[in-house]
Amino acid sequence: MINELKQYGSVEENASLKNLNTYHIAGKAKYLVSPNSINDLIQIIKIIKENDLQYFVLGNGSNIVLNDREYNGVIIRLNQLNGIEIHPQLNMAYAEAGAMLPKLVQEAVNNSLMGLEFAAGIPGTIGGSIYGNAGAYNSCILDYVTSVTVLDEDLNVKVIEHENITYSYRTSMFKEEKKYIILAAKFFLKEGDQSNSLNIIEDRRQRRIASQPLEYPSAGSVFRNPEGDFAGRLIESCDLKGYRIGGAEVSSKHANFIINVNNATGKDIYTLIKHVHDTVLEKTNVDLHIEQEFIDWE
Ligand SMILES: Cc1cc2nc3c(=O)[nH]c(=O)nc-3n(C[C@H](O)[C@H](O)[C@H](O)COP(=O)(O)OP(=O)(O)OC[C@H]3O[C@@H](n4cnc5c(N)ncnc54)[C@H](O)[C@@H]3O)c2cc1C
Repeated sequence: MINELKQYGSVEENASLKNLNTYHIAGKAKYLVSPNSINDLIQIIKIIKENDLQYFVLGNGSNIVLNDREYNGVIIRLNQLNGIEIHPQLNMAYAEAGAMLPKLVQEAVNNSLMGLEFAAGIPGTIGGSIYGNAGAYNSCILDYVTSVTVLDEDLNVKVIEHENITYSYRTSMFKEEKKYIILAAKFFLKEGDQSNSLNIIEDRRQRRIASQPLEYPSAGSVFRNPEGDFAGRLIESCDLKGYRIGGAEVSSKHANFIINVNNATGKDIYTLIKHVHDTVLEKTNVDLHIEQEFIDWE
């Protein structure tokens, strides 16, 4: 099978995932595959299905909690599908799923197109960010998307227009239905003043440095903010700041961040997330919803 896969992209066996997730959990994958093109991705999925293997699409690994054990299947990275096109005369940008969101923001601003400045500090790919409808400062990515190109379960490439995409705060139909691999998206932006965009980006960057523990590995906010409140405030009110399990700790700087302070395992992070959830539920009666995704924990 491995030789078959190699015809369509780069393949690594028993691959380390430690540098492919922002918590730096030392997970592994039986096969890690990076297709050269959309057609090659389709061929790879056919091979996976023929061999009855499970698979998972990995973006930049900045919103997931991996298991420590080896993933017994194929992890697909779309890092070779990373093209970005900016069309200033059409107020439009196009990005492939494996492109990094901050890079798209930067290239849009370089061409005096504005709208996505809120996303400059979100370290995800276009695919992962559309899947979870990434957002900040009351803006979210799907508000700016005019269409998403996907691969459906029957391996057909389809374009889904904005009016047919359902989404809300930190979720989307892609996350709820899990039927599609996101391949690319088009964005509608506005002509703007480049220096104004750069000022917004710098202001937000300073705010993140001041409020988030960016010096430690993490995957950003762990829980969604409940309506009218903040997950961080609730966690702090339960005296959980600084609480540790193994190498994982509730950040003292921002209580909705869990940080890897000392070679945390996936199990440390998983157990700490459960502990925070259960403590907040017991003490405040608020059932926090996790924003990050547990991969392969059942
Ligand atoms: C320091 C820090 C700050 C952060 N700040 C923010 C923030 O302000 N706002 C915010 O929303 N998030 C934030 N995050 C979280 C994270 O960066 C975003 O959620 C990001 O959009 C996740 O993208 P990813 O490529 O890393 O996805 P991954 O973590 O790799 O994957 C997340 C999910 O998306 C799925 N997926 C990935 N690519 C595809 C694809 N092509 N097709 C189908 N499914 C796919 C995966 O299977 C997985 O289920 C932050 C994270 C960090 C570490």
